Amino acid sequence: MELCARKDVPEEQKWDLSLIFPEEKEMWEALDGVKEKVKEFAETYSGKLDTAETIVRCLDEMGDLLPAMYRIWGYSELAVEADYTDNALRERYEKVSDELTRMQTALSFVDSEILLAPDVVLDAAVELAKGCRVYLKDLVARKAHMLSPETEKTLAALGRSFEVPYSIYNTLKLADMDFQPFTAGGKEYPLGYSLYEDDYELEGDTEVRRAAFRAFYDTLKKYENTTAAAYNACVTQEKTMSELRCFNDVFDSLLFDQKVTREMYDRQIDVITERLAPHMRRYAKLLKAKHGLDRMTFADLKIAVDPEYDPKVTIEESHRYVREGLAILGKDYTDMVDRAYKERWIDFARNVGKSTGGFCADVFRQNSFILLNWNDRMSDVFTVAHELGHAGQSMYGDRAQSFYDADPSTYLVEAPSTMNELLLANHLTSTSSDPRFRRWVLSSQISNTYYHNFVTHLREAWYQREVYKIIDGGGSVNAEVLSDIFRRNLELFWGDAVEIPEGAELTWMRQPHYYMGLYSYTYSAGLTVATQAMLRIRQEGQPAVEDWKRFLAAGNTEDPVGLARIAGFDITTDGPLNATIDYIGSVIDEICAITKEIDGICV
Ligand SMILES: [Zn+2]
Repeated sequence: MELCARKDVPEEQKWDLSLIFPEEKEMWEALDGVKEKVKEFAETYSGKLDTAETIVRCLDEMGDLLPAMYRIWGYSELAVEADYTDNALRERYEKVSDELTRMQTALSFVDSEILLAPDVVLDAAVELAKGCRVYLKDLVARKAHMLSPETEKTLAALGRSFEVPYSIYNTLKLADMDFQPFTAGGKEYPLGYSLYEDDYELEGDTEVRRAAFRAFYDTLKKYENTTAAAYNACVTQEKTMSELRCFNDVFDSLLFDQKVTREMYDRQIDVITERLAPHMRRYAKLLKAKHGLDRMTFADLKIAVDPEYDPKVTIEESHRYVREGLAILGKDYTDMVDRAYKERWIDFARNVGKSTGGFCADVFRQNSFILLNWNDRMSDVFTVAHELGHAGQSMYGDRAQSFYDADPSTYLVEAPSTMNELLLANHLTSTSSDPRFRRWVLSSQISNTYYHNFVTHLREAWYQREVYKIIDGGGSVNAEVLSDIFRRNLELFWGDAVEIPEGAELTWMRQPHYYMGLYSYTYSAGLTVATQAMLRIRQEGQPAVEDWKRFLAAGNTEDPVGLARIAGFDITTDGPLNATIDYIGSVIDEICAITKEIDGICV
């Protein structure tokens, strides 16, 4: 189980970044080319953005330059994500980032100069614009929060230093953190970040699982102060920016680009905390009874209801599962799934220095790249389906929209991905009438899809909101404060049903999303829309599938409320969220009923 070095990973388990550039030298050539174009662009447009026609032409041209820059960035960044211990790759990435930051600085005049134009010119430009229309409208809406062109230029030049807290967090976590082996039942086990998150946390053997928990959190504890300092720097910076840009508070500033109201944000956190808790506590009680545990602790929450029904899955088999699970979305969708496997869009490997968790990165109008840590479990198949959901959204969005409009607001970014998890679960339950199999699928839906998005990330969201309240009030945070908030958070949600052992409060150290503003809560927002859409597809079939694809293709051309409307739902009310929580409750009820039938256990 020891992790291997990146160089020892078999080719077929790695993504193929040569799809972006066949060799590194092509990337440097592309970089030189785009650098030249940025220079020409700045010479052409700087100081001349005073008519509607010029503004639109300038933005359209920039819409071609930006994807070329992101391509270069993606090529060098993704290589680092796969191996943070490779100093040569990191050096290359630094060099590329420096060059791109310089280009971004050179382009920073565009937004500020456009906003200097009189309103009548701006209105005419919005009328005239096609691919850059939403971008322009958003820019005008941001006018009150823009600083002088000189200041904007300075901020753009300093752009990379804003990323320092996140970079420290990642380096600490992926390169410096030193996990020692631990023992359980007289046997020694190796430990690592992703080994814990992808393996031990789900381990069926209680002694091993709890020993791993202690060893993992004991190691985190050694790094709590540095992690807290990096995080404090990040949120303080966000607060400073919100003040400089004249937002009411840091929440308004962070929600502004998502086009989400504070009410929608708060509702997601408050309603779930209150209404989902009783269902999840019942689920925790079921796990305790089913496994005959002496007590239910935070370290036991991720075990499967019926671990024997958690068969090993190979990467080849995952292809078939995902393909069949998503077949309802049509041939163009399954073609994409096939290409992802055949052309090696996915990095399955588990190696030293690789980023934990999973993500999907799109190269505009080409293909997406997916990073995950494959562990032969069915939950990994759900991860593949999830990440391919992002890839599918990019595919439709890239085809139908300009670079500016291809991706939806963060609020809905997790809808296409979680939708795929639900479709896969739906498909699996339809393939067998065996109650044990059905329980296994339903409980994976709870322990993977809903646990991850409605519990893990939502607890993070609750915690984040408390942190930002402190920061907004002029305070700062340190490890003690953060641990205290997180413990309160877990105790509030789990009540008497789950014991929160020493160390669990350090869970705030585990999530990179905190460095991306108000992101954590959006998982549940996306899954709310996905759940309703899945239930609609179940009931109505094809018309609901078509609406879903229109939703995917709409990209960022509407705000979240408008996008959800395309999929068929009104998210200005709490109706979809409450219906989703009811659905989760009904799934847990069914798992309990099947367990009563099979094992005679009642909770
Ligand atoms: Zn995702």
